[in-house]
Amino acid sequence: MKVLKFGGKSLANGEPLEQALRIICRQSTRGKIFVVLSARADATDLLEQMLEKAAASEDYNSLLTHFREYQLQPSAGIDLEIEISDIVRLLAGVAMLGEYSLKIKDQLLAYGEIISCKMVTHLLKEKGYKARFVDARSLIKTDLKFGSAQVIWSLSEDNFKHFFRDADPEEIEVVTGFIGSAINNQTTTLGRNGSNYTATLVAGFLGAGEVQNWTNVNGLYTANPRLVESARIIRHLSFREANELANFGTQVLHAKTILPLLERKIPIRILNSFNPDDPGTLIDDQGDGQGIKAISAIEDVALVSIEGRGLLGKVGIDGRIFSALSAANISVRIIAQASSERGIGFIIDREHAVAARNCLSEEFAKELELLDISSIQVDEEVAVISVISRNLQFLDLAYGSLNRNKIKPVLMTNTINGDHISLVVKAGDLKKAANIIHGHIFGVSRRLNVFLFGKGNVGKTLLQQLARSKNRIIERRGVDINIFGICDTKKLALDTRDHGEEWLHQLKMGKTSHSRDQIFQFIRENHLENVVLVDNTASRELALHYPDFISEGCDIVASNKHANTMDMSHYHKIRELLNSEGRQFFYETNVGAGLPLIDTIKLLHASGDTIYRIRGVFSGSLSYIFNRYSKENLPFHTVLEEAMHLALTEPDPREDLSGRDVARKLLILARELDMQVEMDDIEVESLVPEQLASIVSKEDFLANSAAVNAHFQAVRDTLKQDEVLRYTGELNVDNPRLEVKLQRVAAGSVLGTLSGSDSLFEIYTEAYGSHPLVIRGAGAGSEVTARGVFSDLLRLAASLA
Ligand code: ASP
Ligand code: MG
Repeated sequence: MKVLKFGGKSLANGEPLEQALRIICRQSTRGKIFVVLSARADATDLLEQMLEKAAASEDYNSLLTHFREYQLQPSAGIDLEIEISDIVRLLAGVAMLGEYSLKIKDQLLAYGEIISCKMVTHLLKEKGYKARFVDARSLIKTDLKFGSAQVIWSLSEDNFKHFFRDADPEEIEVVTGFIGSAINNQTTTLGRNGSNYTATLVAGFLGAGEVQNWTNVNGLYTANPRLVESARIIRHLSFREANELANFGTQVLHAKTILPLLERKIPIRILNSFNPDDPGTLIDDQGDGQGIKAISAIEDVALVSIEGRGLLGKVGIDGRIFSALSAANISVRIIAQASSERGIGFIIDREHAVAARNCLSEEFAKELELLDISSIQVDEEVAVISVISRNLQFLDLAYGSLNRNKIKPVLMTNTINGDHISLVVKAGDLKKAANIIHGHIFGVSRRLNVFLFGKGNVGKTLLQQLARSKNRIIERRGVDINIFGICDTKKLALDTRDHGEEWLHQLKMGKTSHSRDQIFQFIRENHLENVVLVDNTASRELALHYPDFISEGCDIVASNKHANTMDMSHYHKIRELLNSEGRQFFYETNVGAGLPLIDTIKLLHASGDTIYRIRGVFSGSLSYIFNRYSKENLPFHTVLEEAMHLALTEPDPREDLSGRDVARKLLILARELDMQVEMDDIEVESLVPEQLASIVSKEDFLANSAAVNAHFQAVRDTLKQDEVLRYTGELNVDNPRLEVKLQRVAAGSVLGTLSGSDSLFEIYTEAYGSHPLVIRGAGAGSEVTARGVFSDLLRLAASLA
């Protein structure tokens, strides 16, 4: 024997109801079934609304018409006149009195389930099945606590056993969920979502083999998917674990649902009638033995805080608070006391906020007057996140990242036993906080939300690299790099969903005019955590605005060099701001593309080694040009054009030839070594021939191939046998000097053996002595640069762990 329970959404008119009937019919051919039903669609809510309106002397007739028309579908042939006229009568009575009791409310709400079961019984019969309508009020006996009555188990069990003793094994029993009756036969209800409880009671009383709880979700999740997109389904858990979840706000289960199943160890499955092939969640005696981890959120709450010096060391305050609240029928969910005992805070249901303030003000009228209590405050803009896990060590980490994301929990408390922790946060922070904490428990502890500036060579390549390794990075490192937007000078596209390589297409369709504020607004509205701005542009303007991003809470990763080469005041300003805001800035690709140069220098620095000199070929583009020009007997212009063609140079090759680009890199390295230097402090030998220096446009410059060729031929002619040309940068810390110049070096020397577009850096330190640490490798090109930016993102993620 099985019990199948269907929720309201699974019984809505049209396809949902059809599907539910199909499931019932199919299962009925395999043995006796009991079907326990909720009210259909939003019937309970509607009845409740009509009741409120009637009591407030407002017009409820349009709601009533809607209710009636909906509930009479799909079969008009069914007689529900008695039920409908009873509803009309009850509402009219309430309208006349201008108020209602919980007893009347239960009577009214019960009709949702009664009508639902009568309809389904009728439809099953129409299809030729044997079916019986069972009004649970004659079987489930409760106390008189209307609205959430306690079931009297033994009595109800006897009733069930007796009633179904000679039941026809082929007949489908259609039992009303949610409702029961007290000893004097007055209708009671078991609390909202109570039909789940009815279903497990029926199973427990009659010893069912299994309960199937057909809902509109695939099962129980590690968090509410509405809040946490990456929430996962929990496939198998134990009764005890399910009970924990139910207690902490999982709506799929009524808090008492599990109890009737315990003794006979009856398994229950949460299934989705909209997706009946999904295996759903199985809850049984064993679980899978691993212990569940989940977080749940309770949103309709308010925080009450009482403060005052008079609370210090006073005995009995807590007691008075609780008696006052319980006299007003208000229960406290969570309580925490400040360690100084000067304040006490607790969480109640939001609907009781006003009542709570009133009854406490009354209770403590005297203390308020004497200023022993300075205030009783109620904050309705809060939410509770409960973390359920045996292992709460991660909480320190989660706490750290909440902090970094500027979320300060208002209260934090251990509840009931060590397996739970509850945090109270501002309602506006709920989504962000839930994602951060969920991430920490489930290993995807670091989600970076990335915005990309620029879709040039590097930007485009980075997009490809990120899209292609996304899953691998999640698996191997537990880092989810999620791109939420991209822009170039003309357009902007934003979406919380990562479009991978499709972002370029999104951008094409994006908004034409845009501003930073739109991006900031999007970040705030969507409560994005760990936001990183990735700058792959060459825009000075954008670099000037990094402070805005940092103040907004963003970290920055840039291949753009401007922020590090503007004057020292700007350089310091950014660093001070990074410090005070606790943000980070990574720019490994500023020098030597993807080569780990900045990182190495930082490490050496941190380890206490002193760097006194750095020398090398800093520019991959000029390395390529002179490696070839020194060896092959080609005109300079030909080599230059080839370098441009391979995208090794800056868009205007004079950026490279002028030495500006190498000088910038030298400046960045010098500043890494704490040298207080500006661009003007660097002696730069420009490679742009003097007679062409005044030409403005790049095209005009390139048109002068003869002059360029002649100029460089003259230089090449001065080379001795076994000498080659290298364009080098060099900095000395002790005897401060920064130089960029064209040098003749021996072909067999370290610099002389360079090939391709390799860069090379010799780092002279005290520890390495006269044998410098050499870093050599491809120092230009979009693949390696994009890789470098990617590595920076991973460095950033690692630092957030
Ligand atoms: N109809 C009731 C409610 O909506 C009971 C249930 O659906 O479980 O709360
Ligand atoms: Mg319901």
